[in-house]
Amino acid sequence: MRFFIKSFLVLQFVFSFSIVKGQSSLADSLFHPDSLRNIVEVLASDSLEGRFTGTAGNLKAAYLIADEFKKAKLNPVAGNKGFFQEIKPAWFNVIGAIKGRSKPGQIIIFSAHYDHIGTTETNPYPGLGGNAIAEKKDKIYNGANDNASGVAAVISLAKYFKQTENNERTLIFIGFTGEEMGLLGSKYLVNVFEPDSIVAVINIEMIGRTDQGKSKPFITGAEFSDLKNILNNNYKTYADKPEKEFFKKDPYQQSLFTRSDNYSFALKGVPAHSIMQTSPYDKYYHNLNDETETLDFVLMKKIIYGIAIGTTGLIKGTDTPTRIKELIK
Ligand SMILES: [Zn+2]
Repeated sequence: MRFFIKSFLVLQFVFSFSIVKGQSSLADSLFHPDSLRNIVEVLASDSLEGRFTGTAGNLKAAYLIADEFKKAKLNPVAGNKGFFQEIKPAWFNVIGAIKGRSKPGQIIIFSAHYDHIGTTETNPYPGLGGNAIAEKKDKIYNGANDNASGVAAVISLAKYFKQTENNERTLIFIGFTGEEMGLLGSKYLVNVFEPDSIVAVINIEMIGRTDQGKSKPFITGAEFSDLKNILNNNYKTYADKPEKEFFKKDPYQQSLFTRSDNYSFALKGVPAHSIMQTSPYDKYYHNLNDETETLDFVLMKKIIYGIAIGTTGLIKGTDTPTRIKELIK
């Protein structure tokens, strides 16, 4: 009898230990630098020709993301064709969801735009983006950092949250098109959802390169809601070896808050911010050299892990950020 009890206790201990270990090894494999590189490499390959909205290369990217959403076992959202939300012919947002267990009507969005500026023939902003000579002597803006890095984060987080499956709120994962042409994908999508049902938008932009020695991500427009505090508090509570104040405020005066898809939601009062790493002065921003080889995948892993842990209270339904009031006209 005694032996039995003893071994039972030992087994229980091993079991609960393995749950914790299971989650961190899940993060280790899904956010592994090689896993992230595999996704970025495909999206930023020359065959996608810079993913300019409306082109065949952009469509290929959409199919690749939908394929990853399928592998992640996400569900399509009603009203769309599978994972595709058609904006107009050959323009698609890619959308997948994990239904919330007890609060399905409350939504947390994880998003990143997958379109980029194409080639030297299509770039809508020629002259911007620095004059560094194309090291590969090509004409394709591969957009590895802008924003295959953010898409890799969204895909990895979708797989992570599906497998941990403890979301009380509904999680929606989105690859936006049309961002580089004026946030067109998110402007379309925001009118389809009831803004009050969206609790928060975590938009992920350019997390693959750093400069000035900075090794922590920043949140655009952090002053408009208390999302940054929520992320930092959860990160501090749940991360293995947390770093102090992991999510910083945007140190640049470059209106980054208004320059990505989070802004379409913020205008409707939704606490919607972008998490970024790269500075707007990055030498390869909108540049022909924004290639896979220039990304720091160890840094990306750290940021994506930070987001997975920092959003714990949001996905469990215990944290609700303040709404954005200042921008509503
Ligand atoms: Zn861009």
